[in-house]
Amino acid sequence: MTDNDTDHRPLTLLGLGDMGTALARTWLAAGHPLTVWNRTPAKAGALAAEGAAVAATPAAAVAANTLVVLCLLDDTSIGSVLEGIDLTGKDLVNLTTGTAAEGRARAAWAEERGARFVDAGIMATPTMIGAPEAGGYVFYSGSRALFDTHRTTLEVPADARYVGEDPGHAALHDVALLSAMYGLFAGISHAYALIEGEDIAPKDLAPLLSEWLGAMGFFVGNAAERLTSRDFTTGVVSSLAMQVAASGTLLRTAADQGVSPELLVPYLDLMRERLDADPAAHGAEDTVGALTLLRRRTAPGR
Ligand code: NDP
Repeated sequence: MTDNDTDHRPLTLLGLGDMGTALARTWLAAGHPLTVWNRTPAKAGALAAEGAAVAATPAAAVAANTLVVLCLLDDTSIGSVLEGIDLTGKDLVNLTTGTAAEGRARAAWAEERGARFVDAGIMATPTMIGAPEAGGYVFYSGSRALFDTHRTTLEVPADARYVGEDPGHAALHDVALLSAMYGLFAGISHAYALIEGEDIAPKDLAPLLSEWLGAMGFFVGNAAERLTSRDFTTGVVSSLAMQVAASGTLLRTAADQGVSPELLVPYLDLMRERLDADPAAHGAEDTVGALTLLRRRTAPGR
């Protein structure tokens, strides 16, 4: 049976924090029979009034349905909540944020216990759940058979994007996007710090920043192409040599404005390191080549 055979497949949800509660409401509103459990039972009260069945224990919640969705704080809480519970024949969908390694280990753990497993990464806040117009979605990876069986149910809270059989890949997509976001936040924070105390209102800089960052969005596709072709020089219009030379202006301006360069320095240092390694070879590249230095900097297992 696939999910398409019924519009109202029953399911269990473990974890009624802000995210779990938002998820639960969408399934209830869509008419799915829902069994819930939460460590702090009081949080289930409102959902019971909305039609959820409240299980007294995680074991009872898991026993109630084949499809079991987890939305707990972290991977450690999953281990403690599901410890000793019979998972034979269950379809576990883990919406708890974790690392790729945790996703893979949890998939192996579930398989050993006779369950199918899909890991996920939620690209949405609780207010974006059940609100398709907000643009949130969820990455899924792991058992394709599980995902295909339950896809319609999983798409009730937010759009579902399946990214492959490797159970670590949903988390990796999630963390890649979040990491890029923090880099962006860092740059924006530095920009606002530079004008603080000047006769430039943040609200006047805001549209200029948005426009500039939008124009610089070309870097996403450009980097992908160059990382695939390993050609870092063809068609370069802003060379690494020029950008490293110009970076002094950014650092001097930060010093003049009394702003710490700490959010800016790591990327500038990476560009300089790439250039210094072989100025003749790398000077004509763009900055994408510098990215190749990152992997060896990461300690094994991190
Ligand atoms: P909350 O902090 O609101 O809720 C955490 C949930 O985990 C609660 O149900 C809590 O139970 C439970 N929990 C924590 N520790 C344990 C434990 N040791 N044993 C049993 N239950 C435990 O977090 P959210 O609901 O916001 O987040 C849930 C997951 O969703 C997280 O992995 C988060 O990263 C992810 N997420 C959240 C987003 C958000 O914007 N909120 C966005 C994207 C992902 P209790 O009520 O008893 O404390």
